[in-house]
Amino acid sequence: MFKKILIANRGEIAIRVMRACKELGVSTVAVYSEADSNALFAKYADEAYCIGPPPSSRSYLNIDSIIDVARKTGAEAIHPGYGFLSENAKFASACEKAGIIFIGPSSEVIEKMGSKITARSAMIEAGVPVVPGDGRAIEDDATAIEIGESIGYPLMVKASAGGGGIGMKVVYTPEELTRALSSIRNVAASTFGDSTVFIEKYLEEPRHIEIQILADSQGNCLYLGDRECSIQRRHQKLIEEAPSPIMTPELRRDMGEAAVKAAKKIGYVNAGTVEFLYSKGDYYFLEVNTRLQVEHGVTELVTGIDIVKQQLRVACGEKLPFTQDDIEIRGSAIECRINAEDPLNDFAPSPGKIRRYRSAGGPGVRVDSGVHMGYVIPPFYDSMISKLCVWGSDREEAIARMKRALYEYVVVGVKTNIPFHRTVLSIDAFAKGDLTTHFIDDHDVLSA
Ligand code: ADP
Repeated sequence: MFKKILIANRGEIAIRVMRACKELGVSTVAVYSEADSNALFAKYADEAYCIGPPPSSRSYLNIDSIIDVARKTGAEAIHPGYGFLSENAKFASACEKAGIIFIGPSSEVIEKMGSKITARSAMIEAGVPVVPGDGRAIEDDATAIEIGESIGYPLMVKASAGGGGIGMKVVYTPEELTRALSSIRNVAASTFGDSTVFIEKYLEEPRHIEIQILADSQGNCLYLGDRECSIQRRHQKLIEEAPSPIMTPELRRDMGEAAVKAAKKIGYVNAGTVEFLYSKGDYYFLEVNTRLQVEHGVTELVTGIDIVKQQLRVACGEKLPFTQDDIEIRGSAIECRINAEDPLNDFAPSPGKIRRYRSAGGPGVRVDSGVHMGYVIPPFYDSMISKLCVWGSDREEAIARMKRALYEYVVVGVKTNIPFHRTVLSIDAFAKGDLTTHFIDDHDVLSA
């Protein structure tokens, strides 16, 4: 096992990774921006170094300063968390060049999967079903209209380099299509530095179901079950659960084997997620996330496997200590992302000082957070306060437990989406597991 690693991230995920390190006896190095000098994660680490001013472009995204700290402190490996540099092939390659192990897949795999177009064609080659559409980059309006007619409206125009729900638009007519092409190209160029776009079928009432995979460098690759992430706002997940309420052992095996087939085809090593849309009995590949997901905790709760520890073990060359037959799904787990934002004001971020704070607890409750009473949430980064996860022996118990945990959770000083979560959890269709990615709009949650 490593003696020392650097965590190139902040907030709750930096602490999550450090917790695994502490249990494994691995020393930790934190890097932080000037806005985070008093943050919990910087204090939690064995060593902490400031890497620049608040804007992430000058700190958490500054590859040279991060590698420099790793070198100076003798960190053998870097865990990138999620967001920031976690899916940046240049960063993974800079680590590889500096002789530092990047805790994730190789830079080539990250690069390949970072392009939705390349990922899509790799899946077709692996025999995994993809969303109906056309895998070519769109060059001009006339070809787009032609392709659009052949797929059939409605369509989704997508940036190949897109992520975080940014760079996609639904269109119903050729006029909307040509307008969307130019607007998505502009957004993609400015956000991702790549204006390549493509078109696929827009599935109208899908569920988002994803498969967690884990692969070692000896060619073993397993799936750790599924997660349902259909409760979204603007294509961004808010509530996730494991397993999906519609999951059957057969479907899980089918989707799991498809994900493993895909991972093996691209030479995937470490933890990753293969995302699918599910509609009317069929599932379609959406994308591969080449990092630890925000929602990995629900999988940990139902499998009993610490995914971060496995990431570290695989990264230092160890073989996975279990086989597919050892993976068992027990009970049901739900996660609510607790954000400092105002659900009544279009979810506007609500940074500021947390004046009173008491997190939920008790049986079956797991809280991953990077905040505390008196902490000032800086305005520069995402607005997540914590991830509230619960486990129950079945979905009914998990829902009751989540309602109880949301009732216990007290955050004063900043606006939070806790009331929003309480509303969703109390909707009948949620209890029934009747979910689609349009759940929030369909149930008018915001005005409830
Ligand atoms: P990102 O990389 O930005 O996260 P994804 O491709 O993973 O984008 O899609 C995010 C979400 O957008 C999905 O969970 C789903 O709700 C919606 N979505 C994406 N593609 C489609 C599609 N073809 N049809 C319907 N919904 C889609």
